[in-house]
Amino acid sequence: MNRIAAANPLFYQTSAETPMVAKAEGIYIWDEDGRKYIDGCSGAIICNIGHGDPGVLAAINEQAKSAFFTYRTQFENRPAVKLAQKLVDLSTPGLDRVFYVSGGSEAVESAIKLCRSYFCSKGEHGRHLIISRTPSYHGSTLGALALTAYAPLEIPYRPMLKASPKIPAPYCYRCHYQLTYPQCNLACAKALETAINEQGPENVAAFIAEPIGGASTGALVPPEDYFAVIRDICNRYGILLILDEVMTGFGRTGRLFAYEHWNLRPDIIALSKGMASGYYPLGAVMAGNELVESVLAGGGFPHGHTYAGNPMACAVGLAVLNRIVDDQLAENAAETGRQLLSGLRQLAGHYPIIGEVRGRGLLTALEFVADRESRAPFANSDQIFNLVTREAFSRGLIIYPRKSINGLAGDHVLIAPPLIISAAQVDEMLERLNETLAAVTRLLADKTIHPGNQHHRTDQST
Ligand code: PLP
Repeated sequence: MNRIAAANPLFYQTSAETPMVAKAEGIYIWDEDGRKYIDGCSGAIICNIGHGDPGVLAAINEQAKSAFFTYRTQFENRPAVKLAQKLVDLSTPGLDRVFYVSGGSEAVESAIKLCRSYFCSKGEHGRHLIISRTPSYHGSTLGALALTAYAPLEIPYRPMLKASPKIPAPYCYRCHYQLTYPQCNLACAKALETAINEQGPENVAAFIAEPIGGASTGALVPPEDYFAVIRDICNRYGILLILDEVMTGFGRTGRLFAYEHWNLRPDIIALSKGMASGYYPLGAVMAGNELVESVLAGGGFPHGHTYAGNPMACAVGLAVLNRIVDDQLAENAAETGRQLLSGLRQLAGHYPIIGEVRGRGLLTALEFVADRESRAPFANSDQIFNLVTREAFSRGLIIYPRKSINGLAGDHVLIAPPLIISAAQVDEMLERLNETLAAVTRLLADKTIHPGNQHHRTDQST
């Protein structure tokens, strides 16, 4: 068995059952025992262009011949400039400047500090609070974790986190106010105004949100008019709107950036994941000229990470972006995403453990319930998210699990394959999911679940 050794020197939350990867190509991954898996969640919703892309491999080879790494304050590099220009050209007006980082948490940290620097440069020194949402996920570093509302990841670190105000996410299936859209009058969006007034507008710098909820909420799509209300409140109080597009960017939801779904104009966006699709660590923050010029004139931006904007990372980012744009992968995500959602809804018709199917493009989720009528989540000990993920894995389908958060959200799995997936491959994935759900339903009926016996995956940290 090509499994990891019992005395594994790594200490991620893997187990002795975790297979060794042998190769990955397109939407498939093979382990060293020759088993083939469909990568139904693009790793951690990162590998947007699929595995083993020849264009990216050629770009890596080519870049390696000239310069792998140079430091950004000593040399500018062509791939960095080209990629930044292309990002600016492809994004909404008002996102004119790019600041590179190497991952999603770094992007969020940078966005927060950029906001703060902006208000300091304008003499508004009181503005330091960033309002975020419950539930949410913005990263694992302490600044990003302070904005995150997902208890399992926060609890041990809470004494170290800056307290930051939270408002309810637009989670209509489990509405915080127990209201129904549209009669709710978007109470969850209007909560932002209340939170700003509670904190004192002069203390608030920004509001941050995932445009379509990712790991913590499971492909949570807001009501159509949600962000118009949010944008209006931000404008009236002079606070910045940061969109965390780390998971949703680069075609994932059927548009290059998720804000395009609502013609929304964010002040700052945080990017990573699909940006280099797993071929190299890369991320970025984008913001407007006025904001950046004010920061630079007001003493600069004393922030950065060593690997940021290195030639290889940017060459990879450029090849990935070209692939996404030239081969219309966002459009393919929109089309195959509709097929996937409709297939998932059909499955929901057969399996009462599915409480809700949601998502947009190829960011989709199934939320599980113990009782569909009352929407009661499974008791934590049932570990339904692990059970479904494990059964899928044993049938060669990788999906991304998230356990429930005491009444705030139910157990769910994300289904988010690479954007290159074909219609036939979507059907193949749905078939494996169908077999998985049938097996899980049988296990639940037989009560043969052993909560302690999660031999493969545990809750994901990102
Ligand atoms: N923001 C969002 C919305 C994410 O989904 C993630 C990761 O899942 C992050 C930030 C953190 O990214 P990273 O794991 O690259 O630090």
